[in-house]
Amino acid sequence: MEHSCVFCKIGIGDIPSDFVYSDEFFFVIRDINPVSPTHLLVIPQQHVTVLGGLKTFGRNSFIDMVEIANYVAEKEGIMESGFRLVINQGRDSGQEIEHLHMHVLGGHSLGAIG
Ligand code: AMP
Repeated sequence: MEHSCVFCKIGIGDIPSDFVYSDEFFFVIRDINPVSPTHLLVIPQQHVTVLGGLKTFGRNSFIDMVEIANYVAEKEGIMESGFRLVINQGRDSGQEIEHLHMHVLGGHSLGAIG
């Protein structure tokens, strides 16, 4: 728990959010400023700052994170139409919040990356 971190505060219920999934290790919320009709964030409960930090949960944590993204995509009804998973890490990616999170984007045509 990092006291200045928005996602840590959401995880413990100090900041309200629209949860679509939660378990012991991850939760999924709707992005407050969606860039596509479906825009979810898969977030570790612990304050992990970089992708490599997921290892502290155990070997399969990244696979779990992707499986949860896949599960919520199915739940949102975008499995057939398709979706995009994005992790921004570090300055060049434009990362805003320094608590690891995976964007799940879908619900319309996303265009090319870049
Ligand atoms: P990133 O640029 O990858 O760090 O993305 C951070 C994302 O978090 C952005 O898409 C923001 O819109 C989103 N965000 C920031 N604050 C909140 C919040 N309180 N609830 C939900 N999403 C948020």
